[in-house]
Amino acid sequence: MTELIPPSSPPAASAVGRSFNELPLPPGVQATLQQLEYLTMTPIQAASLPIALAGHDLIAQAKTGSGKTAAFALALLTRLNPRRFAVQAMVLCPTRELADQVTQEIRRLARFADNIKIVALCGGTPMRPQINSLEHGAHIVVGTPGRIIDHLTRGSLDLDALNTLVLDEADRMLDMGFYDDIAYVATRCPAERQTLLFSATYPDGIARLARQFLRKPQEVKLLEQH
Ligand code: ADP
Ligand code: MG
Repeated sequence: MTELIPPSSPPAASAVGRSFNELPLPPGVQATLQQLEYLTMTPIQAASLPIALAGHDLIAQAKTGSGKTAAFALALLTRLNPRRFAVQAMVLCPTRELADQVTQEIRRLARFADNIKIVALCGGTPMRPQINSLEHGAHIVVGTPGRIIDHLTRGSLDLDALNTLVLDEADRMLDMGFYDDIAYVATRCPAERQTLLFSATYPDGIARLARQFLRKPQEVKLLEQH
């Protein structure tokens, strides 16, 4: 399914003002959304969450600030088994700042369940504390491609139990020359997984990335409103 909202028309009624209640999210997550005053889904959340929760691979394009982080975070948290002490989801981000923001947003949304461990793996900070955190058990890792590759080659990051890979800000990762790094990380992930790609723009490289690493992805593109 491709949901295209042309720039000149009003937003599709189906994509606006819908409540998170209609989604099969864990009750604790619903309570947290109310606490955070996330009252209705943003259009990209309304369009992409049902697809992600159904287990499909996804390409989601919407402008910066449209709520893409929660779109994939809620999907990850719904699928996660907190009793399984293994990395089940990984989010690749272009920069440390963005990885830290994503980590914070997932932590906010996960606060109903304080036994979910989310570890940020970014360059520019010492390896040792990251290795220690991984040894203590992480359910979700968020990081930049270079540092994640460091952990994979040292053997400090085990992705055997991974079920969801997110490529966040994929256009920026391509701009920064991360194609080969993303490719390497993807080959280290189990083939049986869900891959969710989020991007603000849709340059040619995105289609190539999707062809190579996503399986029958459904596409949601929300063009900017004028
Ligand atoms: P993007 O990744 O698309 O640039 P973000 O995920 O960073 O956007 O979200 C932008 C802001 O919107 C964040 O401050 C986030 O907390 C807020 N936000 C996301 N979803 C909702 C929602 N459903 N209701 C209210 N605020 C939201
Ligand atoms: Mg974002």
